[in-house]
Amino acid sequence: MRYTKSAFDRAELVLQERQQTSENEYQARLHEIAEKAPEIYRLHLEALRLNYSLIGSIGRQNSEKLTLSQQISAIKNKNLSVRQTLRGMLSASGYPEDYLQYHYFCDICRDTGYHEGVRCRCMKELLERYTIEELNSHCSIAMHDFNEFRLDYYSASPMADGESQRDKMRRVYETCLRYTSSFNENAPQDSPSLYFYGRTGLGKTFLSSCIAKNLIDRHCIVVYGSATNLLHRIEEERFRKAEGDTTSILLEAELLILDDLGAEFKTTFTESVVYEVVNERINNRRPTIISTNKSLQEMYKTYNERIASRLVGNYIPIQFYGGDIRQMKPSYV
Ligand SMILES: [Zn+2]
Repeated sequence: MRYTKSAFDRAELVLQERQQTSENEYQARLHEIAEKAPEIYRLHLEALRLNYSLIGSIGRQNSEKLTLSQQISAIKNKNLSVRQTLRGMLSASGYPEDYLQYHYFCDICRDTGYHEGVRCRCMKELLERYTIEELNSHCSIAMHDFNEFRLDYYSASPMADGESQRDKMRRVYETCLRYTSSFNENAPQDSPSLYFYGRTGLGKTFLSSCIAKNLIDRHCIVVYGSATNLLHRIEEERFRKAEGDTTSILLEAELLILDDLGAEFKTTFTESVVYEVVNERINNRRPTIISTNKSLQEMYKTYNERIASRLVGNYIPIQFYGGDIRQMKPSYV
């Protein structure tokens, strides 16, 4: 994934804050020990001094005529024994053994963002999160909570099969709740891909935004946007050199929610992008939720056959029922 410049800026800022926090906390613990356990504090200073003398001893003459490696190993041994005594004293006084060490958010890179010259995992996670946040911030779809969902907008009169629209939509709602609660960001491949379909204004966008919001709040990497907007961004990046790499973000997100697929202006280019995204995500077992007003049969007419045939069998179709809710509540889409 190619990260945006502002994602780098924000990640750097977070790393600086983490470094500052571990420094502040270390200083606070040091201050506390200096007051409450001065003998431990003195020993800690001795350990620090030994560290410095290790650095300072290089190339310096000494009275015992020791070679440089002998000097270093003598200081190292002393340092080790002082640290061991220090840990014992801390523990005996009721403190954790590592009380006078820096506590980093990430022990691998010590909050520098790099380890052995390579970008650390913690840094990659930040860059990924901020790049996706930025992408999602361009999507104009309002986020909603599950508790805002109103079943009373759906008719309670029985339909031909004996069930009402409300009964059917209660099941859809419960499916979305279960999907969200069982989504595991460490194993997104365990969640299936869903195909929300039904006429415009039945709550597809609303419920998919509830799933998106809930999972984003849990720090899952969710990309959520209208297919039209996302495809337009990809076109801008491909043909007009706009900044960003939306395609790879769509391919790599833990969950992708494509809203209103099939409503975009179709070209050979958009069709090939939709196919690439659908196909790659299926192959890599990454779940996707598509919402559309086209049934799977209609998809065969909208796109060329290879897209529709990938959707059939790989997506669980979920039909939405009801009258146009937006006429009852204009913001409910
Ligand atoms: Zn790290």
